[in-house]
Amino acid sequence: MPHGQDVEDDTADHSSKYECLECGAIVESETHPGECPECGGDFQNRAKSLE
Ligand SMILES: [Zn+2]
Repeated sequence: MPHGQDVEDDTADHSSKYECLECGAIVESETHPGECPECGGDFQNRAKSLE
């Protein structure tokens, strides 16, 4: 029963982008990066993964 399962495009990207509210640095991370390494500002989840 080979069903040609070549649909391996399951790019369930768990990471989302966070943008520093202070300097605008973009960080891609699975979890909240905490504070910006550049300026110590707060990160804001930029692109919420489509659910
Ligand atoms: Zn920053």
